[in-house]
Amino acid sequence: MVWMRILIANDDGYLAPGLAALVRACEGLGHIDVIAPEQNASGTSNSLTLTRPLSAYVASNGFHYLNGTPSDCVHVALTGLFLERPDLVVSGINQGANMGDDTLYSGTVAAAMEGFLFGIPSIAFSQADKGWGHLDAAARVARQVIDRVLSEPPSTRPFLLNVNIPNRADADSVPVRITRLGRRHASEPVIRQTSPRGDTMYWIGPSGDAREAGEGTDFHAVAQGCVSITPLQVDLTDHASLPGFRTWLSTGAKP
Ligand code: MN
Repeated sequence: MVWMRILIANDDGYLAPGLAALVRACEGLGHIDVIAPEQNASGTSNSLTLTRPLSAYVASNGFHYLNGTPSDCVHVALTGLFLERPDLVVSGINQGANMGDDTLYSGTVAAAMEGFLFGIPSIAFSQADKGWGHLDAAARVARQVIDRVLSEPPSTRPFLLNVNIPNRADADSVPVRITRLGRRHASEPVIRQTSPRGDTMYWIGPSGDAREAGEGTDFHAVAQGCVSITPLQVDLTDHASLPGFRTWLSTGAKP
């Protein structure tokens, strides 16, 4: 196999066990650079920090960390921190699933998406359940997926893959499914609390249950104990609605 340059990031922070597992999974593939947020930055989506400068540090194990978001990390890595452009960007392994509508909020997916936006093949990895159970098996899955895309690229164009891995000891020998994103119901209501100083505070509530989790979705594949791989795109345009909206604009007819 050709000597690669791989950039590894995450959203759980540079101390997360899933990051170290993903680095170990990539051992022997080539030159590896690691950059991750200083703090847990789950749920930060594609946000970039534009209101203050960012500082990068190097931990004793060689991982770089940045006082910013996952997108900041990959953006800074690709535009100045590391001299050479990577051949692949991988993100994770996240603690918890990133499926269905959750992918819009995910910092793990965003870190990979930042690589993809720079034209680099990128993959986000998540374990379906929290707690890091069977992380070694998830790392073996990540290596299998990376080996496969390196030896047989799935596309001549850059691609963005979202991989969700069931927490099981045999995760590296379960079937792998190519899936579409499922859908969730609206999130649960916020949870209201009173602070020790009498102020009202709100916790964002948990995400809603799966609404569209039928055959072919990421939810369905993981529920069946399979590894789910969803190819993602960035274009949010509702292409199917374009003709209807053009008609509406010119004639007033409902799309
Ligand atoms: Mn996370």
